[in-house]
Amino acid sequence: MSNAHFNIQEPVNEPYLQYAPGSAERKALKEVLKEQKAEQIEIPAIINGKEVKTDRKADVVMPHNHSHKLGTVYYCGEKEVKQAIEGALEARKEWAEMPWQDRVAIFLKAADIITGPKRFEMNAATMLGQSKTPHQSEIEAVGELADFFRFNAWYLKRLYEDQPHSPDGMWNRTEYRPLEGFVFAVTPFNFTAIAANLPSAPAMCGNVSLWKPSPESIYSSWYVMQVLKEAGLPDGVIQFLPGEGADVGDPAIDSKDLAGLHFTGSMGTFNHLWKKIGENVEKYKTYPRIVGETGGKDFIFAHNTADVDRLVIAAVRGAFEYQGQKCSAASRMYIPKSIWGDFKEKFVPEVNKIKVGDIEDFSNFMGAVISRKAFDKISGYIDYAKESDDAEIIAGGTYDDSEGYFVQPTVIVTSDPKFKSMEEEIFGPVLTIYVYKDKDFEKTLDLCDSTSPYALTGAIWARDRYALNQMADRLRQAAGNFYINDKPTAAVVNQQPFGGSRKSGTNDKAGSVANLLRWVSMRSMKETFAAPLDWTYPYLGEEK
Ligand code: NAD
Repeated sequence: MSNAHFNIQEPVNEPYLQYAPGSAERKALKEVLKEQKAEQIEIPAIINGKEVKTDRKADVVMPHNHSHKLGTVYYCGEKEVKQAIEGALEARKEWAEMPWQDRVAIFLKAADIITGPKRFEMNAATMLGQSKTPHQSEIEAVGELADFFRFNAWYLKRLYEDQPHSPDGMWNRTEYRPLEGFVFAVTPFNFTAIAANLPSAPAMCGNVSLWKPSPESIYSSWYVMQVLKEAGLPDGVIQFLPGEGADVGDPAIDSKDLAGLHFTGSMGTFNHLWKKIGENVEKYKTYPRIVGETGGKDFIFAHNTADVDRLVIAAVRGAFEYQGQKCSAASRMYIPKSIWGDFKEKFVPEVNKIKVGDIEDFSNFMGAVISRKAFDKISGYIDYAKESDDAEIIAGGTYDDSEGYFVQPTVIVTSDPKFKSMEEEIFGPVLTIYVYKDKDFEKTLDLCDSTSPYALTGAIWARDRYALNQMADRLRQAAGNFYINDKPTAAVVNQQPFGGSRKSGTNDKAGSVANLLRWVSMRSMKETFAAPLDWTYPYLGEEK
């Protein structure tokens, strides 16, 4: 076995390609889009490296053209989950003992595959399966995903280097053991990068993972799995288990070997899983680590000294990119009366310019929302606003599901700061604005802080530094990712570690060493070089 102390240099964030007209990358991406669309693929489970097809299957379709089938997915149930747990625990024996540098080399290689030969495949799959524009896909399915793998490898090296003090005569050491059991990774539809990171971060630390991808983004998850395989991930280390929530969730949570839950998704699902783990607590061999990042009701709060022109652009991008289906998307806004007229006059025409449609047409800024269920939920909120006396729709307000699940970017203005759409996560392209009286600035900060159960992201806008300071102080607990004169979206690994508090999750900051710490169990070791030969202490001596 090698005995050197290996180094990993600090990575740099993956640069994004632009896909501008005439560029080579645009041409290449369009070709792969065409190829993937022309083919229908099979998406089985992968258990112990083998493809497993069950008799429960579903069509994989494109949200922006729901009659176009991309493939067939095979769903797992109790039998497959039990088989996957058994296989993962067997794989763990070798994987947990593998030198760390060999483990992380696999993920460093995967990052190079994603940013190199498979770049357009990853992007095309995310665009077709999740209805993302080329830019939205490039920044996450390639950029963020490669960043997660590269920075986590570097964080892990630094974590292992963190060693305790040793006074003379002894050597104190800390070992960072993988957890005993398996980690259950349950992933959301909206980010290919998050889906890949949740099973991978624990695996890099020497754990084995059961990955339950979202049925709504199964297409890109399948491509991620292929990349990991190509990069040399041994069989059984990440078990790929497509399926409906409880069919996979119940038997996984029921297992005495559950050592951790790595979750991202809605608050309701996380609450449910936490409760189930609580009910089973007597049965587990080890207390499972529970890490969950959930929803948001993310705000933009403007002071009357805000730069209106820049605020308009931040609100357009912050609220409507990826159809508002980012946990960090701006969905409520507080704006003072003195700048409201100017803001509205500039904002509404910009929103009306947004083109919504098929993501293969690169002139579209927005695609479709993910599913029929999402479409019904979002349009329900729009209808509610239409019928309410406390709200007015000043842009958008229409939707159409005849071909794809399209919802126009919608702006609601309400006179009620506790209006339904100011409080609840909609997860769609709907921004609700509350116009406050300038003199109520402080009162409105309190409102912003107390209006929703979430605390994920928020942005404050002002030129006045005293006001910025006051807002940042008053809203200290209102967001885990806090932006000053910027939009509340697009966190970058190693720049703005991501996660929220309150009902937005456990705030274990994906893309930071804090997250990796949850997937290791420290062993403190003390070696004494010359242990005492006498059990007595000086104080026991006779008084002279
Ligand atoms: P969701 O809660 O509907 O589903 C998430 C995952 O949980 C899916 O894989 C789903 O199949 C699974 N699931 C559902 N019931 C289950 C059960 N009983 N057992 C096991 N698994 C079960 O969320 P979604 O619609 O996929 O994602 C959108 C949500 O995720 C939004 O609330 C969004 O804010 C949140 N999100 C948060 C972050 C963050 O970092 N805070 C990032 C992305 C998305």
